[in-house]
Amino acid sequence: MRLEALLQSKFGYPAFRPGQKEIIESVLAGRNTVAMLPTGTGKSLCYQLPGYMIEGQVIIISPLLSLMQDQAEQLMMNGEKKVIAFNSFLSRSEKRKALINLNQYKFIFISPEMLYYESVLSQLQKLCIALFVVDEAHCISQWGYDFRPDYLKLGEVRQKIGNPVTLALTATATREVKADIKKSLGILDCSEFIYSVDRPNIALTVEKADNFRVKTERLVELAETLEGPGIIYFSSKKMAEQTADLLREKGAKRVMAYHGGMDHESRILVQQQFIHGQLDLICATSAFGMGINKDNIRYVIHFHMPLQIESYLQEIGRAGRDGKQSIAIMLYAPGDEQLPLQIAENELPDKSQIDWITGWMEENPNAIMNISAYEEQIKQRSGLTDIQWRIFYDFFERKNKSGLGYKRILQEMNGYFEDRIKFKRNSIEEVYRWIHKENCRRENILSYFDEEKNTSVQFCCDICGLQFENFIRNTKSDNQDKTFYDWKNHLEYLLIPGE
Ligand SMILES: [Zn+2]
Repeated sequence: MRLEALLQSKFGYPAFRPGQKEIIESVLAGRNTVAMLPTGTGKSLCYQLPGYMIEGQVIIISPLLSLMQDQAEQLMMNGEKKVIAFNSFLSRSEKRKALINLNQYKFIFISPEMLYYESVLSQLQKLCIALFVVDEAHCISQWGYDFRPDYLKLGEVRQKIGNPVTLALTATATREVKADIKKSLGILDCSEFIYSVDRPNIALTVEKADNFRVKTERLVELAETLEGPGIIYFSSKKMAEQTADLLREKGAKRVMAYHGGMDHESRILVQQQFIHGQLDLICATSAFGMGINKDNIRYVIHFHMPLQIESYLQEIGRAGRDGKQSIAIMLYAPGDEQLPLQIAENELPDKSQIDWITGWMEENPNAIMNISAYEEQIKQRSGLTDIQWRIFYDFFERKNKSGLGYKRILQEMNGYFEDRIKFKRNSIEEVYRWIHKENCRRENILSYFDEEKNTSVQFCCDICGLQFENFIRNTKSDNQDKTFYDWKNHLEYLLIPGE
């Protein structure tokens, strides 16, 4: 009963959600634990609650700044003062101060790149760490859809801070990714708690349109008729913004865009307005959603094809957290697979860029040991983007430390990036096949995660058959009739390819 009492007094919840208690008990028994809980089922409680029951600090490694910030704020709003989010949002002096006083905090959120600094690591070594949490642990696997090179050294970090009890949390991981998580963190002997990725209250549908224009028309129609609140996901910042503009011009007042290109304040504002019911619809990129606690989202539409089944599940999983019926709609027009392919390819440095760097290193052998000092120069002349640079730099530094010559490293890099692109291409093809399959969509997704569909779902998917009327708003908006004529001239504008 002690756990339930604490759950009530500290967090105000009368009961645990499925999975939470088992995971918490495992952690409290001092066992390393891997837990896979579907999006929206309260993963953070699995380290927050034990934090109040054990002596020492809880370290939480989190890959996304916004997610980390949200979770830290959530704890603070819950009355916890000993929380810090140690990341690049802190100024230099704030960081210094925080580092000296690290032992006064209970919950310490750290972004993985901070672990590069010896000063941070040596402070961590002085702490009495009760629990080491790796959030979004699938980022550790090179075959995970969201691989972060920074995550690779978490196993080493864990060792250096004395192998504390470790909890790896993720919402979606295939069998290979799970194996990678355990191996990288050095917790092969862990307890595993794996729950179904299925969310039966989310109906799954795919709608195929003949072309982009028809698809856009359908999107507008859906936005005007579906029962909200809702999220529409785009792969392009520009499209997210333009669609929000278009819907507003058509009279939908409570629509905003959200993407990573917006400044921090605007993003927080939009997020807060949406959470508090002042907005009905967000036109977003994948930057939106992690750590957003809004339980009454009724629909999620994908205007662009996601890059993999895992991120698709994460994104649609933001609907229906209150358990009520919700719907996920994927819109598809022929050729839609081109955009994700392009995005996947642009993320990594290509062969010509690496060849250029090889030549540059040949001419500047002294620069090799201090490559970060040449970041701007290399980026400018080889055309690497920030993300490409980070990936390049991380790979190079790791290998350089192990004493491989630069030519060998760059050769290996080329091979590795080729494999990575192949992997990404396969993931996109997987989504493409899913869209075009003709049997139950839920069954197909579950089998991707080695699961079987063994419950009957009332509103399962478009293939099993479902009535669309169930998802339509009762009161139609005034400007309903104008849907199809006053916005045609915007289409050309929308057709400009996004970034
Ligand atoms: Zn079905």
